[in-house]
Amino acid sequence: MSVTPEIAKPSIARFVIRTIKLGISILYFIWNRFCRMLFGNSVGTCVVLYYHSIPIQYRTRFEEQMRLIAAQKTAIDITRVGDLPSNTHSVVITFDDALQSFAENAVPVLVRLKIPATVFAVTDALGSKPGWGEGYYSPNERVMSPEQLSNLPDSIKVGSHTLNHPNLTALSQESAGEEINLSREKLEALLHRPVNLFSFPHGAFNDFTVQQCKKAGYELVFTTEPVLVSAGKNGFVVGRVPADPWDWRTEFYLKVSGAYCWQPFAQVVMRKVRALFITK
Ligand SMILES: [Zn+2]
Repeated sequence: MSVTPEIAKPSIARFVIRTIKLGISILYFIWNRFCRMLFGNSVGTCVVLYYHSIPIQYRTRFEEQMRLIAAQKTAIDITRVGDLPSNTHSVVITFDDALQSFAENAVPVLVRLKIPATVFAVTDALGSKPGWGEGYYSPNERVMSPEQLSNLPDSIKVGSHTLNHPNLTALSQESAGEEINLSREKLEALLHRPVNLFSFPHGAFNDFTVQQCKKAGYELVFTTEPVLVSAGKNGFVVGRVPADPWDWRTEFYLKVSGAYCWQPFAQVVMRKVRALFITK
């Protein structure tokens, strides 16, 4: 998650990194368009965005972003990421942490523009202050109450984001299993419907937690790795691209287009370069 601008200290380093990422994404976007012109684009693709807080002062900016998606007619339901039609590029909207600012400022916009979305809830934190978001969220931010969560419109799906928002890879296997299993059971008891979707707090996962999610009966699990979803290539674990209502307009357009999905390649290259130096 990125820090809400009102509570962040201005940082030149953060601005420079953001600008470099934007520059690389523009080049990646141009390269992709060029390749598509040469070779065509028959494979269906999809970007899954993940938001957190939508503070009231950014409601208009969020609405602008959703209007762009509504105009492109690219928004699809999360369950369709495994079945992307050829020659299409789609967008899935998700929200982590089930915050009150999501319920108050995002849901009315999504409903008005008929955009389906999914929210991932931390079941034992409902109605309380999101302690894990200290330093990121406005001090007034709260997690949605159980009533708010169970009264969401049908177009908003609810998935699990564990019981307490821990880093699952830092827990014992028993505790990680409980966070994955019990959160699903509690949500199903509250909502009176199946809960098949899960997102990893802090984006942290490993082979064990993925297997536990499969065993628990989830159908799809979501990470914070900015991967472009391609028809026939995605499996049980789905990557997502971070989005915030304070994204620059060009930045947001490129994120939706999939132009920020160069980052996993860059990480692989960096790892290989590092390994090269270590062996020497
Ligand atoms: Zn979270």
